[in-house]
Amino acid sequence: MSKPKLKPCPFCGGQAEIWHCNRLIYKMVVVRCTHCNAQTFASYDEAKAVRMWNTRSRRRDKDALFQPCPFCGSDRASFDGRCGLYRVKCGNCHAGTGQSLPPDDAISEWNRRA
Ligand SMILES: [Zn+2]
Ligand SMILES: [Zn+2]
Repeated sequence: MSKPKLKPCPFCGGQAEIWHCNRLIYKMVVVRCTHCNAQTFASYDEAKAVRMWNTRSRRRDKDALFQPCPFCGSDRASFDGRCGLYRVKCGNCHAGTGQSLPPDDAISEWNRRA
Protein backbone atom coordinates (compact mmCIF):
# COMPACT_ATOMS: atom_id res chain seq x y z
CA MET A 1 0.00 0.00 0.00
CA SER A 2 1.43 3.37 -0.92
CA LYS A 3 1.87 5.99 1.75
CA PRO A 4 -0.95 8.53 1.84
CA LYS A 5 0.05 12.01 0.87
CA LEU A 6 0.02 14.52 3.72
CA LYS A 7 -0.27 18.24 3.29
CA PRO A 8 2.09 20.56 5.17
CA CYS A 9 1.03 21.71 8.63
CA PRO A 10 -1.76 24.34 8.55
CA PHE A 11 -0.17 26.13 11.51
CA CYS A 12 3.51 26.30 10.67
CA GLY A 13 3.94 24.70 7.23
CA GLY A 14 6.05 21.91 8.71
CA GLN A 15 6.19 18.30 7.62
CA ALA A 16 3.41 15.98 8.78
CA GLU A 17 3.61 12.34 9.80
CA ILE A 18 1.18 9.61 10.73
CA TRP A 19 1.44 8.70 14.38
CA HIS A 20 -0.08 5.65 16.00
CA CYS A 21 -0.70 6.48 19.60
CA ASN A 22 -1.47 3.75 22.05
CA ARG A 23 -2.27 5.83 25.06
CA LEU A 24 -5.92 4.88 24.88
CA ILE A 25 -7.19 1.36 25.21
CA TYR A 26 -7.94 1.24 21.52
CA LYS A 27 -5.30 1.89 18.95
CA MET A 28 -5.80 5.37 17.60
CA VAL A 29 -4.18 7.19 14.73
CA VAL A 30 -3.44 10.88 14.50
CA VAL A 31 -1.63 12.90 11.89
CA ARG A 32 0.79 15.30 13.50
CA CYS A 33 3.29 17.94 12.54
CA THR A 34 6.91 16.99 13.19
CA HIS A 35 7.75 20.64 13.77
CA CYS A 36 5.11 22.22 16.03
CA ASN A 37 3.32 19.02 17.10
CA ALA A 38 -0.09 20.10 15.79
CA GLN A 39 -2.40 17.10 15.46
CA THR A 40 -5.71 15.98 14.13
CA PHE A 41 -8.24 14.49 16.47
CA ALA A 42 -7.54 10.84 17.07
CA SER A 43 -9.31 8.37 14.82
CA TYR A 44 -9.49 4.60 14.57
CA ASP A 45 -9.12 4.88 10.85
CA GLU A 46 -5.83 5.98 9.32
CA ALA A 47 -7.46 7.11 6.08
CA LYS A 48 -9.89 9.25 8.05
CA ALA A 49 -7.09 10.86 10.07
CA VAL A 50 -5.27 11.68 6.83
CA ARG A 51 -8.45 13.19 5.41
CA MET A 52 -8.99 15.30 8.52
CA TRP A 53 -5.45 16.61 8.26
CA ASN A 54 -5.59 17.33 4.56
CA THR A 55 -8.94 19.10 4.70
CA ARG A 56 -7.95 21.32 7.61
CA SER A 57 -7.64 24.60 5.83
CA ARG A 58 -4.78 26.89 6.52
CA ARG A 59 -6.32 29.54 8.70
CA ARG A 60 -5.54 33.13 8.01
CA ASP A 61 -6.93 34.80 11.09
CA LYS A 62 -4.19 35.52 13.58
CA ASP A 63 -5.90 33.44 16.24
CA ALA A 64 -4.75 30.35 14.42
CA LEU A 65 -1.14 31.31 14.82
CA PHE A 66 1.01 31.34 17.90
CA GLN A 67 1.54 34.73 19.45
CA PRO A 68 4.92 35.38 21.08
CA CYS A 69 5.33 34.08 24.62
CA PRO A 70 3.75 36.54 27.12
CA PHE A 71 6.55 35.84 29.60
CA CYS A 72 9.76 35.90 27.61
CA GLY A 73 8.68 37.21 24.19
CA SER A 74 10.02 34.13 22.41
CA ASP A 75 8.28 33.06 19.21
CA ARG A 76 9.07 29.42 19.86
CA ALA A 77 5.64 28.41 21.10
CA SER A 78 4.48 25.00 19.94
CA PHE A 79 1.96 22.31 20.73
CA ASP A 80 2.64 19.76 23.39
CA GLY A 81 0.34 17.10 22.05
CA ARG A 82 -1.43 14.20 23.68
CA CYS A 83 -3.50 12.15 21.29
CA GLY A 84 -5.69 14.90 19.90
CA LEU A 85 -5.52 17.20 22.92
CA TYR A 86 -2.80 19.72 23.39
CA ARG A 87 -1.26 22.38 25.49
CA VAL A 88 0.66 25.21 23.94
CA LYS A 89 4.05 25.73 25.49
CA CYS A 90 6.97 28.04 25.02
CA GLY A 91 10.13 26.33 23.78
CA ASN A 92 12.28 28.92 25.51
CA CYS A 93 10.97 29.41 29.06
CA HIS A 94 8.51 26.46 29.10
CA ALA A 95 5.52 28.59 30.08
CA GLY A 96 2.39 26.85 28.87
CA THR A 97 -1.37 26.79 28.87
CA GLY A 98 -2.81 24.89 31.80
CA GLN A 99 -4.80 22.11 30.29
CA SER A 100 -5.06 19.90 27.26
CA LEU A 101 -7.62 21.21 24.78
CA PRO A 102 -8.55 20.72 21.16
CA PRO A 103 -5.98 22.56 19.01
CA ASP A 104 -7.94 25.69 18.17
CA ASP A 105 -8.96 26.18 21.81
CA ALA A 106 -5.38 25.66 23.00
CA ILE A 107 -4.18 28.36 20.61
CA SER A 108 -6.96 30.74 21.70
CA GLU A 109 -6.01 30.20 25.33
CA TRP A 110 -2.36 30.84 24.57
CA ASN A 111 -3.13 33.98 22.57
CA ARG A 112 -5.41 35.37 25.26
CA ARG A 113 -2.37 35.63 27.50
CA ALA A 114 -0.14 37.24 24.94
ZN1 LIG B 1 3.30 22.62 12.47
ZN1 LIG C 1 8.55 31.97 27.06
